Amino acid sequence: MKKIEREVLIIGGGSAGMAAAAEIAEKGHSVVIVERESTMGGILNQCIHNGFGLHRFKEELTGPEYAERYVNIINELPIDQYTGMTVTEIDDQKDFKLVYAFSSHEGMVEFKVKAVVLAMGCRERNRGNIGTPGSRPSGVFTAGLAQRLVNIDGLIPGKKCVIVGSGDIGLIMARRLSWVGADVQAVVEIQPYPAGLTRNIVQCLNDFNIPLHLSHIVSKIYGKDRVEGVDITPLIDGIEAPVQTFHIDCDTLLLSVGLVPDNEVSKKAGVIISNQTSGPAVDGNLMTNVEGIFACGNVLHVHDLVDFVTEESIRCGSYVNSYLEGKTKGSQYSVMAGANVRYITPNKFTSDSDNKFYLRSMIVKNQAELVVSLDGREIIRKKQKHVQPSEMISCEIKADLLKSTGLNEKSRLEIGLKS
Ligand SMILES: Cc1cc2nc3c(=O)[nH]c(=O)nc-3n(C[C@H](O)[C@H](O)[C@H](O)COP(=O)(O)OP(=O)(O)OC[C@H]3O[C@@H](n4cnc5c(N)ncnc54)[C@H](O)[C@@H]3O)c2cc1C
Repeated sequence: MKKIEREVLIIGGGSAGMAAAAEIAEKGHSVVIVERESTMGGILNQCIHNGFGLHRFKEELTGPEYAERYVNIINELPIDQYTGMTVTEIDDQKDFKLVYAFSSHEGMVEFKVKAVVLAMGCRERNRGNIGTPGSRPSGVFTAGLAQRLVNIDGLIPGKKCVIVGSGDIGLIMARRLSWVGADVQAVVEIQPYPAGLTRNIVQCLNDFNIPLHLSHIVSKIYGKDRVEGVDITPLIDGIEAPVQTFHIDCDTLLLSVGLVPDNEVSKKAGVIISNQTSGPAVDGNLMTNVEGIFACGNVLHVHDLVDFVTEESIRCGSYVNSYLEGKTKGSQYSVMAGANVRYITPNKFTSDSDNKFYLRSMIVKNQAELVVSLDGREIIRKKQKHVQPSEMISCEIKADLLKSTGLNEKSRLEIGLKS
């Protein structure tokens, strides 16, 4: 078995892995990226629509263009890149880690490293996760798979489509399929509000006159060999109203019913997974409970914009640098999701440096207020023009503010949204 020694190994060469690698290599540490696909870029490679990079590059790029910017950056740096190679296991040996990976051209490879960055992205929830009754005909795809078929393989999954779930991938595919000549009959959303970004509702549904049925479910799938139609049932106060069920003929059903951080490798390494994010629980340095294993990007929590993935991953890279240099920031204190907040990450903070948190609302509201309390005392109150579950909120808290408020070992920060 081939054996390679470096300081850091990054699992995944998407936007998260590339940004973290660049930050680490720029400080002179040796770093290797292992990527399962044949090219770097991750999910960006199949997102040929624009809307990427508005924050990071102040330009509107397509996914592949955004990826290319980072591929160029990592190619300029001394970063080892292994593509077509899958990491299967991390063996924590305390002072170092052994990471096992395989590829068809290298066979099994053992990497000996001091730190690992988890940057494996996320995967799509599928029909099994939503339990829609009916037979199992062909023609049911996840929206991301359909995106890959259309944008990379040049195949159109069907002619008459219904989309379940109004997450961003489903919305983007509604427009993409309309462009390639398919008839998108409807988008069906179980929640009373859309799951995707407002800009995507406008640009991908409204502009194409595609109806969005909020508070509705696909209650049955028809078809033996191929999907022939679906029943759609409204929910009234969350309860199915079968008498109002209507039928749509279609040959394709796309599922855009959520993304789940991909943490099979993390779990095997003993990393604790947060119930709220389904990603690793991390401290203020984005380090998991396993010392030397860090996480960033969609494997940590599902982001809506790549710009935030990049921002978080650059910070992750700088925390890895501090770890390698023995300068990891000191004591860590608890962080809790307060009122109306579905999740918050990281789950700990430090008073030795500024802290940045990402959170998601449980409510839809104009003019909400973000309230930060330390040990029950309010320290920040900030107006939010509009909050909704699909739009991530960020919150920065300066170290000076935390220090001046006074901390003890049981100190607890709570971030909530006042409705
Ligand atoms: C369909 C879609 C549309 C989007 N649209 C927009 C948009 O319009 N604007 C915007 O700003 N953002 C958008 N986003 C969000 C943004 O693109 C993503 O959040 C971001 O690119 C995720 O980056 P990542 O590196 O965390 O994950 P990924 O890009 O998923 O990268 C993870 C990588 O890890 C690799 N990997 C996984 N497991 C292993 C393993 N065991 N061994 C080796 N490699 C492994 C995978 O092959 C993959 O390449 C969209 C996302 C999706 C899914």
